Amino acid sequence: DTLINQIAAGEVVERPASVVKELVENALDAGATRIDIDLEEGGVRLIRIRDDGGGIAADDLPLAVARHATSKIASLDDLEAVATLGFRGEALPSIASVSRFALTSRHNGEEHGATLPVDGGRLGNVVPKAHPPGTTVEVRDLFYNVPARRKFLRAERTELGHIEEWLRTLALARPDVELRLSHNGKASRRYRGDGGIATAARIAETLGEEFSKQTLRIDHAAAGLSLHGWIALPTYSRASADQQYLYVNGRSIRDRSIAHAVKQAYADVLFHGRQPAYVLFLELDPRRVDVNVHPAKHEVRFRDARLIHDFVYRTLHDALAQTRA
Ligand code: ADP
Ligand code: MG
Repeated sequence: DTLINQIAAGEVVERPASVVKELVENALDAGATRIDIDLEEGGVRLIRIRDDGGGIAADDLPLAVARHATSKIASLDDLEAVATLGFRGEALPSIASVSRFALTSRHNGEEHGATLPVDGGRLGNVVPKAHPPGTTVEVRDLFYNVPARRKFLRAERTELGHIEEWLRTLALARPDVELRLSHNGKASRRYRGDGGIATAARIAETLGEEFSKQTLRIDHAAAGLSLHGWIALPTYSRASADQQYLYVNGRSIRDRSIAHAVKQAYADVLFHGRQPAYVLFLELDPRRVDVNVHPAKHEVRFRDARLIHDFVYRTLHDALAQTRA
């Protein structure tokens, strides 16, 4: 089973940033309002994620690290309309099979916490451990037992950069959650929670004041589709190809067809060759989009891709045209 988990880890866990992504998404699925991420050596030495979410009962700790034992979907119907970020039940067993791992938690409503160590996929015993309500996952020495993968890890700075960029992507989508990142004992990023700051404030906090001022607000819904967010105006001074954020039902994804629609609307209205910076959130009935296309869930498949392309194009085209009128 360890071997199967290690093979799965090859798909889910590419580098420290993918571990951070999976663990933070679990914290969000558990309803966390504050998430602390502590790293050492770009996450290669240590990744520790602590949340204040619902927690896991001591008896359920072994289940959480068992393969395909997700608590999030119970039927195929659920898979048709996934509302959580996770659903495959692969992340914890995969990560635990390629690291020195510990899952510590206290379920809300329980008096005490407990911890389960897993070393390279070998489960230890569940023992009591003091912990506030919520969960802490520790991942030490990533890929220590898979030298072939360890070889592909890059310099500390590079791995940290990937984590910071992913965290920025998340911060834009979840202004309701306070996020803190520390590296080698030093605070490195902090996105305020303040019990849920406005999205606009989080945008400014994340992408800078200029972005929040030199952009056009988008907010449109029709035929069960909604698009909201911000698209930069030509007055925005930054090179913007690295500031293109697209979310589908709250999930950050890459999609060529939508990226094309945005670029085309921009070019058609503003006759502007530059790539527009944007933060756009598309919402639709989860039944119209398949998120189970890729283990890391970077891509989705739309049931009616053409319609969605045209909706995005039309929405942005009309909004941008207003600025020229
Ligand atoms: P998935 O997220 O696809 O369900 P994971 O392997 O990521 O699979 O997690 C397995 C299970 O462990 C989850 O379904 C959930 O029940 C539990 N779990 C993991 N992380 C947390 C957390 N931070 N808080 C509460 N429960 C968690
Ligand atoms: Mg998960």
